[in-house]
Amino acid sequence: MRQVYLNEYNMPTDNTVYLPYSSGLLQIYAQQSDVVNDNYEFKPILFQRDTVKNIIDQYDNPDVVGFSISIWNYRLSLEVGKQLKKKFPNSYIIFGGPSAPLESQEFFQEHPYVDLIIYKEGERLFKDILVNRLNGGKLPYHTTISCKDSPKDLDIFPSPYTGGVYTKLIKDNSQIKFKAIIETNRGCPFKCAYCFWGVTNIKKKIGFHSDEYIRGDAEWISQNKIEYIFCADANFGMYKNDVRTAQTYVDIKNKNGYPEKFRVCYGKNATNNIFQTASILSRADLAKNISLSVQTTTDNVLQNIGRKNIRSETFEKLQKQYTQANIPTYTEIILGLPGETYDSYLITLQQIINMVQGNHIFVYHCVVLPNTKLASKNYQNQHKIQTILAPLAEVHGTIRDYNLIQEFEEVVIGTNTMPPKDWIKCATISWIVQLFHSFKVGYDIVEWLVKTFNVKHIDFYEFLYNSDLPQIDNFKNIARNVTMGHPRCQKILNYGNIYYDPEEVAFLDIIYDKYYFYNCLYDVIKSFLKISQNINILDNIECGCLIKGLCNQTRDSLPNVDDFDSLQEFATQTILYGRKSTKKKEINDK
Ligand code: SF4
Repeated sequence: MRQVYLNEYNMPTDNTVYLPYSSGLLQIYAQQSDVVNDNYEFKPILFQRDTVKNIIDQYDNPDVVGFSISIWNYRLSLEVGKQLKKKFPNSYIIFGGPSAPLESQEFFQEHPYVDLIIYKEGERLFKDILVNRLNGGKLPYHTTISCKDSPKDLDIFPSPYTGGVYTKLIKDNSQIKFKAIIETNRGCPFKCAYCFWGVTNIKKKIGFHSDEYIRGDAEWISQNKIEYIFCADANFGMYKNDVRTAQTYVDIKNKNGYPEKFRVCYGKNATNNIFQTASILSRADLAKNISLSVQTTTDNVLQNIGRKNIRSETFEKLQKQYTQANIPTYTEIILGLPGETYDSYLITLQQIINMVQGNHIFVYHCVVLPNTKLASKNYQNQHKIQTILAPLAEVHGTIRDYNLIQEFEEVVIGTNTMPPKDWIKCATISWIVQLFHSFKVGYDIVEWLVKTFNVKHIDFYEFLYNSDLPQIDNFKNIARNVTMGHPRCQKILNYGNIYYDPEEVAFLDIIYDKYYFYNCLYDVIKSFLKISQNINILDNIECGCLIKGLCNQTRDSLPNVDDFDSLQEFATQTILYGRKSTKKKEINDK
């Protein structure tokens, strides 16, 4: 028998990791063929991030080797591929996945050990390669191939779950807690410049799985006691079937207790269908929050990135609808988009603060992903996009051992409208907003300032940027360091063996020493009022007492470190289970 090895190294969080979904799809589809079954043995899928040597040691005379490559396993996959070819020169090495380049000539010059790239859906092409290799047919070499058509009926691709691909893998790795990825459809009708999905789906065709298929996956996942599912659909909730999918998972959770969480990326058109889907999942505590995507409110930036947002009145209406239904929302913004300026970015932040009515705001840094419009030289030249290669921000991922290959991401740190010095300021103010607004470290206080003195939230946050509040200097340093190629994520070993975002570390530090922080904040507010309103708190005892009272009240509403068994437990419960999660104490998930 010939040996097939599939590689899909996923990022672990402590002892939790995703089942290798793409590899599972390739394997189960190929195994529908008798010819494949009679001639090939699929070896256990290699899914654990490890040293190159440890991975290579698991190989024995491979015939065909497949890699699913993404931003989090790119360099490791390349190095394993290179060493494999040296050791087993007759093996045929195929790369696929979101980071496999469509324009491949340069890639093959740099990485000649890779024989073939399969772009987009790989199941049918991968099976054909296995069959053709047996027949002695000429196999494609140093080229990219892709499927001509995307099927509407996705059930032609069997499920790796119900097909039994993972049964042995789970049994052989009982120390690992697995998470699962599912998809109920493939494709996205939109074309955002920073996302590869829009580029791959030129015909805007969406393929769907049947209800039976989806129910089969749900049953298997539940019976195997998998707690966490990520639904990889691009726009969950946008289609009628999604209401049925949500109900299927709720029914199965009610029956067996699993899964506990069902994470999705909701559709960009905020329809009633999405509201219905979100309500079903939220009531069952499967997915508590819903994202209302914005990314920016600046018109020319939206045009540059090929997005159209819902109108702000519609957004506010929806926001109210979700609030009444007790479904928290969160809104995402991207920093570094082409056409954004320092001023327009602050306007975006202010508008979103107004629109979200106290719900969470998340700010992401714009990253250049392979095969996107943003990655094209023309587009980058047009907007004079400046990037830096920085260690991959593996937020909440397990801290890498020093002997593991480091992965990188290309972060946008400047454009023709936002030079790096402005990017640093915007990144810092974004962390301040997330800390004060989303983590509620100063939410009530800022609301009071806004109402009482008719100032804008962003005026106060900009003032904080220039203050000597201890966390701000740290934010500034991190932002500056990112522009020089240093990592954004923080390793604070006292808080456990995972990476945290800067605003998360700031939040943990504040809780750790609450009295000190709120004393400092009181002083900063004093200066703000003096400078912006010419009010001297020392002369205005009533105002001073009110601010002191608000500071004390906020301080006392935050969790206490002493209520946890350890600092690590405190960090995990407060951030990991408290930010976007439905699980455990939900301390800060207001
Ligand atoms: S960002 Fe979302 S909506 Fe835009 S192309 Fe990608 S998947 Fe589609």
